[in-house]
This record gives sequence, C-alpha cells and structure tokens, in this order.
Amino acid sequence: MAQLRSGRNGERGECRYVVWLPVQGLGNRMLSLVSTFLYALLTARVLLVHEPPEMEGLFCEPFPGTSWLLPATFPYKDVRFGSESKESYVSMLHNNVVRYDDVDGGNAGALPPYVYLHLENMNLRLQNHTFCEEDHRALDGFNWMLLRSDSYFAVALFLVPTYRDDLERMFPSKGSVFHHLGRYLLHPGNPAWGIAQRFFDGYLAGADQRLGVQVRIVWHHPVPFDVMFDQILRCTREHGLLPRLTGEPSLVRPSSNSTAKANKVKAVLVVSLKPEYYDKLHAMYYNNATDSGELVTVYQPSHDQDQHTEARAHNERALAEIFLLSYCDEMVTTSWSTFGYVAHALAGLRPRLLAPLDLSKMRSDVACVRPASIEPCLHSPPSLVCRRAQDLDPVAHVPFLRHCEDVDFGLKLVD
Ligand code: GDP
Repeated sequence: MAQLRSGRNGERGECRYVVWLPVQGLGNRMLSLVSTFLYALLTARVLLVHEPPEMEGLFCEPFPGTSWLLPATFPYKDVRFGSESKESYVSMLHNNVVRYDDVDGGNAGALPPYVYLHLENMNLRLQNHTFCEEDHRALDGFNWMLLRSDSYFAVALFLVPTYRDDLERMFPSKGSVFHHLGRYLLHPGNPAWGIAQRFFDGYLAGADQRLGVQVRIVWHHPVPFDVMFDQILRCTREHGLLPRLTGEPSLVRPSSNSTAKANKVKAVLVVSLKPEYYDKLHAMYYNNATDSGELVTVYQPSHDQDQHTEARAHNERALAEIFLLSYCDEMVTTSWSTFGYVAHALAGLRPRLLAPLDLSKMRSDVACVRPASIEPCLHSPPSLVCRRAQDLDPVAHVPFLRHCEDVDFGLKLVD
C-alpha cells in the first residue's frame, strides 16, 4: 500500500497484485473473476478482490489461511475507471506514458504506481492492445494492476504466446477450463448455500432425474412469452427431456405398469426472474397425466421479476439458483446468458441451448442446439489488430477454438 501511494511503480516487487473490480450481474462477475484468477496464476500475481456490499459473504474465501479481500482502506475501490481514464493501459500507451521498451530496457521503476486494465466489452469487442504479446510484456512491468471485466476473457489468454506452455500444462483438455477453475474458486457462502441446500433437500433430492430450465428475458430483446414457452416445449419434446401428456386429465398409472419409466419422478427446476414459465409448465403436469407414466414435478425457487444486482439477498438467491441448476442431470438454457453459462459449466454438462430467434419470423427453425463443449462463450473477442492480419479470426488457426453456437462472432474453448 505504501508503494502504491508512493506515486511510482518502483522496483519489481516480491509480491505483485491484480485487483478484481466488479461490474454487471452475477454471471458476468463469476466469469470475469475466474478469468482474473487464471491471469493471476499465469503472471504470478496475487489476486485481490473488491467485495462491494451487495457481494458481502456471497462467496467463501477460497485460499486457506489468508484473505483475498482488499483491505478496507484500499484507495481506488470505487473509482469508476473506463477505457478513456488516464490510468488505463491503452491510454498510457497512446500517451507514451508506457513504452514497449520501458520494461525490457529496465525503466519500469519510473512507471506510474498502478495500471488499470479495461477488459469490458466495447461494442462486443475487447479493446485492441489488451491481448498481444508485447502488451503483456509491458503490463508485466507494473507491480499493481487494477482490472475490470464483464467477460470470460480466459479464452483470450490462450491467444497470447507467452502463456501457451503454462496453459498447455494446466489444461491438457481445453474444453473444461471454467469447470475446473470455477469449482476450485467459487464456493457459495452460508446464506446462499443454505438456500441451495434447503431447496435441494426439500424438492429435488427425491427425484429420479432432474431437469433444469433456465429462462432469461432481457429488456433489450423482449421475446414474447408464448414464443419462448413454445420453443422450450419443442426443445424438451424433440430431445425426450419431458414426456408428452395423455391429453386428458387422468389418474397416474399404477406402479405395476409395465413401462420401464412408470412412476419415475422427474423434477423440473425452473429458474427465471419471471413466474409465468413455471406457472404454465406446472399447470400442464399438474392437470394431466403423462404418456410414459412418469411423474413430472415442477418447482421454481424464486421469481424476483427484475434484476437487482445492488441487493445482497437477491444475489444470494441468484447464486443459490446457479448452483441448484448445476446439480441437474440435464439443462435447457437461454442463449447469450452468462447466468446459464456458469450453471452448465459448473455442472460439467453441455446444455440444450435455446437457439436465438429469427426476428423476421419470431421463431427459430431449430428449437435448441447442443454446444460443442461445456465452456462458457466469450461474447467479445479481443481485437487483434495489434497482431498480424492472419490472426484476426483465431478460429481459423487455433485448433481448440470455435465460434459459439448462440453468438456467432463469440469464441469458446473446445477439446
Ligand atoms: P445474464 O444477464 O443472463 O448474462 O446474467 P447475469 O447473472 O450477469 O445478470 C443477470 C442477473 O439478473 C443475475 O445475476 C441475477 O441477479 C438476476 N437474474 C437473472 N435470472 C435470474 C434467475 O433465474 N434467478 C434469479 N434469482 N436471479 C436471476
């Protein structure tokens, strides 16, 4: 802290830091926190976390015997840095405050006391000069880095040659990076865990099978209820995730029924801010028997209606529901949703991803698709103008990268 306040970077420190600053909803935060952890490992920095009041106690401390929380007196917690801030790396580069030869030439001591790395998406791209080799060498010269991101930028780290050997050793298979890092790092604190545990034991534990259905409707893309509900039913029917109804109210078939599935219980966990998907699905299987004789029970833990990232209790419910989804055997998730990505990646399963609508028809020809891996999608690939032209679409020459099924310009890791 004294070094940070001294006004200059100083000698290369024994401990060097990357400070994670929160932005956006919980799914975005979990993706960027895990990415920052991987970045810290690759650059031998200590990861420190700014825990704002709405996140207090949301996660357990992951590292025994120490704390990852910033000290209360840390000076820059609430500064709203942006890509244009003078402390931002790209601004420093443009203003000649940092030069590529500073670090190699031994001038790093005279650099400013910290650098801010802006990794929020800007028109669905990460800024140029954030994932090129020479930029990472220059960034390495700073003892203190403050970083804010809404993205799963772990994917972009695989594009930086310096990190490739370490990443190769850490991840022999590339399609489960979040699964391993997320399960290592992210443990719900007692309030969220209590919700998840009570709900699981009370409603889900006794079922033979669990299906998660995650419905995320965002204000800037308001899909009408009927369209979305129809797509969910098409998806679950086409892929045998939910049984058909007999079409008439009748008693459940007796357990002596010869069909193998008779009287098995399938629990459906509906996770959404809105109550109507649960209401309709629940009514369908409450009022009707199923063709297969299976019993379908439908539950929804909460329906807060709107996103309230500023409220701790709301975030505890959201975290509990992400974990509850991750305990399902199968999952239907909404495209573009980082909330859904985190749930299926923690589970280690490839969901049925509800395909984005063709807006001219208000329908998608295919109801849902199976992603190539369990990995989340990076919605905002880095601009690589700082590299050779052939690198501009890394999918063309990096064997473990694909474009995402729901975001055709996005990037995801695959095996
Ligand atoms: P995204 O917007 O779908 O990418 O996911 P985020 O998690 O980043 O932001 C959405 C936020 O809205 C969540 O973090 C929650 O605060 C809230 N939210 C969205 N869907 C649900 C839900 O199904 N259940 C609960 N409890 N909260 C939700």
